[in-house]
Amino acid sequence: MRYRSLKGIAPMADFREATLVGQAPDGGLYFPECIPRWDGSLTASDATTDMHEAAFHVMRPYVGDVIPERDLQDIVADTLSFETPLVRIDERVSSLELHHGPTLAFKDVGARFMSRCLGHFAKGMEERVFVLVATSGDTGGAVAQGFMGVEGVEVVILYPSGKVSVVQEKQLTTAGGNIHALEVKGDFDACQRLVKRAFTDVELKNRLFMTSANSINVARWLPQQLYYLSAWRQWPETERPPVVSVPSGNFGNLCAGLMAWKSGLPVGRFIAACNLNDTVPRFLREGVYHPRPSVATVSNAMDVSDPSNFIRILEIFGRDSLSMKDIVESVSIGEEETLDAISRVSSEHDYLMDPHGAVGYLALMRRLERHPEEKGYFLETAHPVKFPDSVETATGQKVELPAQLKTLMALPKKALPLEPEYEAFRDLLLRLS
Ligand SMILES: *Cc1c(COP(=O)(O)O)cnc(C)c1O
Repeated sequence: MRYRSLKGIAPMADFREATLVGQAPDGGLYFPECIPRWDGSLTASDATTDMHEAAFHVMRPYVGDVIPERDLQDIVADTLSFETPLVRIDERVSSLELHHGPTLAFKDVGARFMSRCLGHFAKGMEERVFVLVATSGDTGGAVAQGFMGVEGVEVVILYPSGKVSVVQEKQLTTAGGNIHALEVKGDFDACQRLVKRAFTDVELKNRLFMTSANSINVARWLPQQLYYLSAWRQWPETERPPVVSVPSGNFGNLCAGLMAWKSGLPVGRFIAACNLNDTVPRFLREGVYHPRPSVATVSNAMDVSDPSNFIRILEIFGRDSLSMKDIVESVSIGEEETLDAISRVSSEHDYLMDPHGAVGYLALMRRLERHPEEKGYFLETAHPVKFPDSVETATGQKVELPAQLKTLMALPKKALPLEPEYEAFRDLLLRLS
C-alpha cells in the first residue's frame, strides 16, 4: 500500500515512512491510495477465523511488505490482548466497551499498534526515535503504556500541570524508563505549541529523529477499524446491520469505522455524536464548515472544534458531502442531558456510562426514537472511573476503582517540571538524546 498526502504535493510514502514521519512533509494527512475490499469470510455470520486472524487480514494490505507476516501477526495479537465486549443495555441498544485496555480508554488499541510498528522500524535504524506528544489527558496515558519498554524509542509527553485528572496523571508519570513526562506550567495549547515548534526546528531535526503519536498517524488511525469488526462478530445473526453511534472529537475513530464500512463491513448507519462542539453537525445541516472556538464540556476528550481527521472522512466520499449524508448523520448533545442520561441509564438499566459514552448513547436514542424498526450500539470509549466527578455528580454514587488502577495509584509520580518556553524544552530534549 502507498499513501498520498491530502495536500497533494509531497511524494507518496509506504507504511513505514508514513508511520515514521506522522504527517506528510507538505503538512497534509496521509491517506491510502486505495481502500481494500475485505474477503467476505471476515464478515460472514458463520465466520470461523478467530479475531486475531481476522485482524491480521484487515491490517495486512495497509502495512504491505514493510513488516514481515510473522511479525505483523505478533503485533496484532499483542495489540488485541484485551476484550471489546458488546454489552446489551436493553432490547434495542448495546454498548461496545472499548475500555478494557491498560489505560481504560479506546486509544489503547491505536497506541499499542503504533508503538509496536515503530519499535519494529526503530530496530533497523541507527538513531533512536523520539516520539513527542502533547496531551490534554487520555492520549498521553495510552501512548505511555503503549510505548513502555519499546527499544529504540524515547517518548516525551507534555501535559498541562494541574489540568489532568489524578488517574490520568498517574498513567502519564509512573512508567519511567523510556517514557519522559514533562509537567508544563501552562495549558494544553502551551504544550501543543512547544511540540509544534520542535517539529519545525530544522537544527533540532538534524540532531534528533522526531515523530508524533496523535491520530493523524496512520498506524494509530487505521487499527481502530478492528473495533467495528469485533462488534459485528458479536452482533446477533438474525438482526439487520446496526446503527453505530461514535462519540467524536478529532473524528479518527469514526473515520476508521467508515473505512471498515467501505471495505465491506455491514453497517446500517453511522452517527457522529458530538458534545457542544458542533462544527460537524452544523456542517451537515447547513453545508458550511465553520469552526468556532472550542468549549469545555464534561466529555472533555471531545472538546475539539476543528477535527483533524474530518478531511479524511470527506476524502472517503470523494469530497462530496451529499453522498456522506447517505450513511452518516451527526448530532450535538448538551451538558445537562449527558449527565441526566448517565443517571437514568444507571438507575433503569444498572449500567454505568462515562460522559463520552453517554453522548454516544443519547445520539443513538434520538435516531432510534424516529426509527422504531432499527437497533444499534454506541462506543463506550472510556471507563467511567476516569471521569469520577461527572459520574458521581450524575449518579450520587462513588465509582469503584478497578484492580489495575489501585496498583497504579500506589506508584510514585515521576515528572520533570517545565516552564512553557521553547528554549527550555529544546535543551531538555537535547539532554535526553
Ligand atoms: C479521544 C477520545 C474520543 C474522541 O475520539 P476521536 O477519534 O478523536 O474522535 C472520545 N472519547 C474518549 C474517551 C476519548 O479519549
